[in-house]
Amino acid sequence: MSYLVKNYNRKKLSFKKGKGSFLYSTDGSKYLDFVQGIAVNSLGHSHPKLVKAIIKQSRRLWHVSNSFTIPEGEELARKLAKKTFADFVMFQNSGAEATEAAIKVARRYFYSIGKPHKNKIICIKNSFHGRTLAAIFASGSKKMIEGFGPKIEGFDHFDFGDHKKLKKLIKKDTAAIMVETIMGEGGIKVIPDWCLRGLRDLCDKNKILLILDEVQCGVGRTGDFFAFEKSKVKPDIVPIAKGIGGGFPIGAVLMSRKVASGMIPGTHGSTFGGNPLAMKIANEVMNIISNKSFLKNVKKNSQYLINSLQKIKMRFPKVIKEIRGRGYLIGIQLHVNQNNFIKALMKNKLLTIRAAENVVRILPPLNVKKNEIDQALKIISKVCFNYR
Ligand SMILES: *Cc1c(COP(=O)(O)O)cnc(C)c1O
Repeated sequence: MSYLVKNYNRKKLSFKKGKGSFLYSTDGSKYLDFVQGIAVNSLGHSHPKLVKAIIKQSRRLWHVSNSFTIPEGEELARKLAKKTFADFVMFQNSGAEATEAAIKVARRYFYSIGKPHKNKIICIKNSFHGRTLAAIFASGSKKMIEGFGPKIEGFDHFDFGDHKKLKKLIKKDTAAIMVETIMGEGGIKVIPDWCLRGLRDLCDKNKILLILDEVQCGVGRTGDFFAFEKSKVKPDIVPIAKGIGGGFPIGAVLMSRKVASGMIPGTHGSTFGGNPLAMKIANEVMNIISNKSFLKNVKKNSQYLINSLQKIKMRFPKVIKEIRGRGYLIGIQLHVNQNNFIKALMKNKLLTIRAAENVVRILPPLNVKKNEIDQALKIISKVCFNYR
């Protein structure tokens, strides 16, 4: 009997230990973990440097109020600003909080320049921005909002790729366009670079803001620090979370000087957001991931993984429909049932997770070893072979 609310359909499997790319189950099995807490454990389980950082900081100081200056947070904000488009950073504790805060920043900016009527956000239908009330209504997913009315106003939707509808939706009351650079939960759908540039132009022309949700695809996941980097587009607001804490719950909103000007004292806050313990760990993650050769390695090895998956797809065209994604944010779209496929992988000691559109997500840690990739490829091939 479990006293947990049944809002998850949990597997029986549980774990007692994690190390790098591997998880050790309570029943004595060793699994290659290509879920990594859904792109959260960016450096794998129990990375020695993160273990050291958490022990050191926990002896020193865990939490103080944001009414004081927190040097560890100042340091991380400086690092993020130096590394990215951002001029300023605001810390939260999760992805949903970060996207909510991104929406607040956009609205508050227009309010602060005397245009409070500009408050609508345009989003992609069936996207994912988290589970808070505003975020589920931003997602435009029927399933997520079912039973959670009354409707939260202020979000308009267009279908992925429907440029005509998007242009039509932009009106006098529009504040921003908010999209995931790569739709994660939605099935690993990549917005192409030329599209991102189109979005930026559209926003500039209409004097509205561009919010790129990089909660899942950001922080090195694609081999660039941000998934949008390759497009050379400069967004106004970027929420991040998952990977930046390496397993510790942290969220953040990165933004330009212009939009940050609306966030004066008292406009937003978070009791836990940016506390010394969280910041110390994220600083350590940042030190490792922002290293050029680290990201170069992510690019190289992930390209090998994707190329190899393409080859498996060619061998088993009746099982695999498409390989999607970039870097270590990969989707295998199947012809066969995704749940059965995931179960078969699990039986062979490889953990993966579903996404929409019958996609199996492959999310190795960013520091996954080449031989671990080969191990996963072998299991995927074997499972595909068994479908013949
Ligand atoms: C996971 C995710 C969120 C929500 O993050 P939580 O930490 O679960 O609140 C928001 N946006 C995207 C793109 C995500 O993948």
